Amino acid sequence: MTETANPENELNLLTDIAVKPNNTDDSDIINERIETLKEKTPDLKELHTDGGYESEDNNQKFEKLKITHIQTAVRGRKNKVEMKIEEIEGEYKVSCPLQKVKSEKTRSRYKACFDKKICAGCSLTGDCPALIQKRYRAYYFTREQYLANKRKRNINTLPHKRRKLRPNVEATIKEFVKPFNHKGKLCIRGQFKTMMYACSMGISINFGRIHRYLAVNPNLCGLLGLMKAGNSLFFKNLLQIGQKLRNIFRFGFFMVKIHQLPNFEIKY
Ligand code: SF4
Repeated sequence: MTETANPENELNLLTDIAVKPNNTDDSDIINERIETLKEKTPDLKELHTDGGYESEDNNQKFEKLKITHIQTAVRGRKNKVEMKIEEIEGEYKVSCPLQKVKSEKTRSRYKACFDKKICAGCSLTGDCPALIQKRYRAYYFTREQYLANKRKRNINTLPHKRRKLRPNVEATIKEFVKPFNHKGKLCIRGQFKTMMYACSMGISINFGRIHRYLAVNPNLCGLLGLMKAGNSLFFKNLLQIGQKLRNIFRFGFFMVKIHQLPNFEIKY
């Protein structure tokens, strides 16, 4: 589920809902939805997620669509020595806690060479990811590793008040789980029914927010603008549901046609 979270907005709305089996990786879900999200909200510049949405392919898509991925947590174990890779005027500069060096291109990767004399006095030498070589200590990386490195640091580039935007969506999730049964599960089964439930819930949450906004801002011009935005979102969701239904109906018609064939039988 995705919603707008600009601190300057008086009203934030849900903009996207996807329903997938619960064994689907979060990074695969965002990978499928990111183009649609950009299409629905062309002004999208930042996407805040927790640590589960990272992947190499996602990094490339975010870069292509000019979206900054802000990650509030990191998946997996944290390195004891963090290398910082920066791209400055087409060149990569790599910094460790004690040194900053320019990288050079190798056949398939980039290589940053750190001064061994400085490394000799470094207390982090045992945990350092740079490899000990004859003349220097070398750190190898690819463009994909640079993108992943940048993504991890993106959150530090934001002002403090904008680093905690993601928890808002947790409050929205609570609205979705309110009607769950005493076992904390939905009362319906199947992906299609769940999708219908989630989209209807999303629409009703949006209309609830619009209604509360209008209650404190009873301005007709604002109302018209908001109704337009609400309608457009509603019809986009309806279109998504229609596209899913079309495949089900096609399959239904196909089955009916087969059973109408004269002397229909299956031969082995
Ligand atoms: S060992 Fe060398 S490259 Fe590694 S962190 Fe220390 S100074 Fe930097």
